[in-house]
Amino acid sequence: MRWAVAQLDLESEEQRNCQLLTIPEAERTTFDGQAEIRIPLTDESADSDFEPTNFEGRLCQWLVGQLNAADLPISIRPLNQPSAVNDIAQNLFAAYQVDDGLVHLGGCQLTDFPFLRLSFADAENDQQEVRHVFVAHDGSAVSDELARNLGLLDIEPVLKLPPRIEDTALQSLITAGRRVAAQTVASRDPNATTIEPLVVAVVWVKHASGQLDFTIGDTTVSQAFSGWAKLVQSQPYRSPVTGASGFHLSATEDGRIDVADEIAACEESGRRVLRQELVTCSVTGKHVLEEFTETCPVTGEHCLLDQFASCSNCQQSVSKLALKDGRCAACRALKKIKKDDPRIVWILGEHGGLDRWNDWQLAETKTVYIAQATGWTRRLLAVVDKESLAVRHLATGSRLSSYWTPVDEAVRDELLK
Ligand SMILES: [Zn+2]
Repeated sequence: MRWAVAQLDLESEEQRNCQLLTIPEAERTTFDGQAEIRIPLTDESADSDFEPTNFEGRLCQWLVGQLNAADLPISIRPLNQPSAVNDIAQNLFAAYQVDDGLVHLGGCQLTDFPFLRLSFADAENDQQEVRHVFVAHDGSAVSDELARNLGLLDIEPVLKLPPRIEDTALQSLITAGRRVAAQTVASRDPNATTIEPLVVAVVWVKHASGQLDFTIGDTTVSQAFSGWAKLVQSQPYRSPVTGASGFHLSATEDGRIDVADEIAACEESGRRVLRQELVTCSVTGKHVLEEFTETCPVTGEHCLLDQFASCSNCQQSVSKLALKDGRCAACRALKKIKKDDPRIVWILGEHGGLDRWNDWQLAETKTVYIAQATGWTRRLLAVVDKESLAVRHLATGSRLSSYWTPVDEAVRDELLK
């Protein structure tokens, strides 16, 4: 009733326990010529001085008649919904932390969507209460929870320049509203007869869509948002690069913005980069840029350059992890092979001189073959590049000794050709 008075823009004054309503002059015959009537605000205040407020009473009938007499649809809106872009922005901004940068609005549009409120006299209830049924702009039923969250129960009139709705759109909303109302009634009492709403009003609900921009230095990234203005929430920023999402943003040293957790410092250079650009040194466990590492040919793992050492046997540079008593894992795992093993066939095909040797043992790393042969008195070690078959290291030694003597360039050809 208080809403109806406000919606009809009637002159009234709230007093201690009643609303003093001034009746327009032309309407006073309805109220026995009274210029003012008093509407009780509480049950306790009801006495003979007050106008009865039951549905059948003249006040209620008159108000409903006045409301329904208007040409335009009755327009209302939630009392507490953001009405300006700024109200939403401040709310959204609060969720984000941007290191050395800021979040700002990259664009935002507020659009009024027409919901419909159908108000029924609750026939099942002696309390003379009004029951509202709401339908959304698309004709779907609005749950009690959504109605509460959107603030549809706490509304104010839109008296000046309400948004417009096409008559066909309004009619289809009303049809949808009646259907929803009938279903609601039928679900409570299958035998209930359909009743007419007292008043139908369009509720203008604001929808917000736009994007947030996050700027650090010269770089800006964005995150879209969309939803009912009263409910729209900050979404975590989702990085297209790392796929990570979060509310805390930071930038790499070269200015790329990402979720802060995805940015880390290289433990070798101190440079702030994406975590995914760092590799783990298999010896020290440090997270470093790949450029400070090499892949160990034996373990296949990243290793900081200063964590490499030469194998005392094959002289190849390998990660310290691959070494034991100075020898690499490959050299420790030499296996006897037959002379027709394709790998030996390749090596001997390229370096015919080696064919004079027998009793071959072989091991391989990612880059080289380590081939070792044993003769009557002497042994030979050849480290051969897997791709080019070039000999990287050649050594001989006594069969009775574990020491190798590197072969001089001068006599190298004698052994190989
Ligand atoms: Zn080795």
